[in-house]
Amino acid sequence: MTQVLSESPAKSTADYIALEDHYGAHNYHPLDIVINSASGVWLTDVEGKRYLDCLAAYSAVNQGHCHPRIVQAMIDQAHRVTLTSRAFHNDQMPLFYEELSAASGMPRILPMNSGTEAVETAIKAVRKWGYHVKGIPANQAEIIVCSNNFHGRSITIISSSTEQQYRDGFGPYTPGFTVIPFGDVEALKAAITPNTCAFLFEPIQGEAGILLPPDGFYRAAYEVCKAQNVLYIVDEIQTGLGRTGKMFGYQHEADIFPDGIIIGKALSGGVYPVSAFLATDEVMDVFRPGDHGSTFGGNPLACAVARAALQVIQDENLIERAAEMGDYFMARLQTLQSPHISAVRGRGLMIGLDLNKPARPFCEQLKERGLLCKETHKHIIRLAPPLVIGRDDIDWAFEQLRAVLQ
Ligand SMILES: *Cc1c(COP(=O)(O)O)cnc(C)c1O
Repeated sequence: MTQVLSESPAKSTADYIALEDHYGAHNYHPLDIVINSASGVWLTDVEGKRYLDCLAAYSAVNQGHCHPRIVQAMIDQAHRVTLTSRAFHNDQMPLFYEELSAASGMPRILPMNSGTEAVETAIKAVRKWGYHVKGIPANQAEIIVCSNNFHGRSITIISSSTEQQYRDGFGPYTPGFTVIPFGDVEALKAAITPNTCAFLFEPIQGEAGILLPPDGFYRAAYEVCKAQNVLYIVDEIQTGLGRTGKMFGYQHEADIFPDGIIIGKALSGGVYPVSAFLATDEVMDVFRPGDHGSTFGGNPLACAVARAALQVIQDENLIERAAEMGDYFMARLQTLQSPHISAVRGRGLMIGLDLNKPARPFCEQLKERGLLCKETHKHIIRLAPPLVIGRDDIDWAFEQLRAVLQ
């Protein structure tokens, strides 16, 4: 029998998209661009066209695409051992714990893979803390969340969502969530009952459109939580690891010591799925062997990659850089005289442009000019480039935005 090994003709953008549409679930609406390589802040598509990335994979690529040190750490570890499961120890996870604890100031770590799993881990931890430490009656624990939150896509997490599309057709929902308006400390106070175990929130709501709470909210909410014996849990999956110009978004206000921090995305520099729930001793100690786990969570490949990704944030001063470049980008954007823009807001390199009309056509035009960004919630353009971006690239991005929006 002979096999015909024909050289398949090069595929075009349209070919790839047609294949994807044919075989895939249609659960996304991407821009019509097929990327096949990337470096730093630049992406290249299959037609050889270059694009400046102003999405950074929803802030997973803070360190820039294919960072050589992170990629090298991955290759080196891949040659040694990739997966042991937690049935045995490996020599990367303890070092990852030590380094992540030093970088975050949190004493204990539970590694997972996706952000969603790390949020689920936090939900399990705070519920169990509620029963075992606070003394909430069985199955009565309540978690307070905010309207317009985004914490992931599992059934339990969408049960805490106020976004109809995230929920429709996926019920029955997990009970135990109370929703308050984002940034409303009086509503938080009023929502707390003796059965409240935790307040879970994003310091800046990314998926909702880069929404910031009123100044003072982080600290005021913290005081309310401490006074009522309610755990203060921050979802820093998007805001964490330098994005807003601080290590964590909540650190824009002083004297806050969260009981739990959830991270993911940039924890691996976008190279591999790595997430973690960071917590105090009191919270983490609710877990006993067999209570919770993940086959891939804490695998040596993930840990080696994350160690390198954290080191890059530190060595390249990406946190200070996000603050500096964010201020620069924001100052330029505020000079834009556009009939289409109703507000510019953000912190560090997490910037939202509110338009008074649908944002998608502008994103399409920007794509044609070589700038990639994505609309969120119809009227908002999110600008969140890798933190390694420089002034020249910001100037260039600004010129494209000006051309399209003025
Ligand atoms: C992306 C994100 C998640 C979910 O992370 P996945 O890795 O997509 O599961 C949760 N919370 C926030 C704030 C996020 O931005």
